[in-house]
Amino acid sequence: MIDTHCHIDFEEYDEDRDQIIKRAEEVLDAVVVSGIGYESNRGVLDLCSKYENFIYPSLGYHPVSSQNCTEEELKLTHQDIIENRDNIVAIGEVGMDYFYVKDKALREKQREIFQTFIELADEYKIPLLMHVRDCEKKALNMVLEYENIPYVVFHCFSGSKKTAKRIIQNDNYFMSFSTMLCYSTQHQELIKNIPLDNILTETDSPYLAMTKEERNEPANVVNAVKKIAEIQNEDVETVDSITTANARRIFKI
Ligand SMILES: [Zn+2]
Repeated sequence: MIDTHCHIDFEEYDEDRDQIIKRAEEVLDAVVVSGIGYESNRGVLDLCSKYENFIYPSLGYHPVSSQNCTEEELKLTHQDIIENRDNIVAIGEVGMDYFYVKDKALREKQREIFQTFIELADEYKIPLLMHVRDCEKKALNMVLEYENIPYVVFHCFSGSKKTAKRIIQNDNYFMSFSTMLCYSTQHQELIKNIPLDNILTETDSPYLAMTKEERNEPANVVNAVKKIAEIQNEDVETVDSITTANARRIFKI
């Protein structure tokens, strides 16, 4: 079982990070931590080097913070990705968030920055781990233009059934579902028709816990796996082995 998307580098874990990781090691095979900006990427690399062979880094720039990023920061982030390309498992999280950001000019800035990361993923053949909200179709159309991106992941996919249908026409495109499945009827409905071959599991810790108040942690990904099994009428073991194999193939872990 793998948590393919979380942020255990965040300060929310400063008091008990080692215990959280220990709990994760008891139930999981691996954890992918996603950077959300220049400083955050540095923290992610540090954390991953401390827990080599269990925690794996993905470097990116979160779309909502990317709208405030300077040219210099973006350049340095690109540089970090290129220099660490043999070390990182994906570029992300990167993408566009039209739910939080309504301003047209800021949306356009997000799109331009996202495009630069898509080009990097294509040029260096690195998987792309995306945060996309309320513009899934647009993001899909953008990435479909590039043929050398080995794998594309929509983290915590919340788009339409129609877009989901187009995504699963591509063997190398995935949607990851989080612990949010435990309460989100929208996600429960959506996952009914997504083949396990296109599914990954994640927690997005510290966010998206089973109840909105608590802090999430990677070990909780087991709840997402169980929920998928329940909805799709499958054994927990089957869901676990297929989604874990998907993650291993994508991230080479
Ligand atoms: Zn995230």
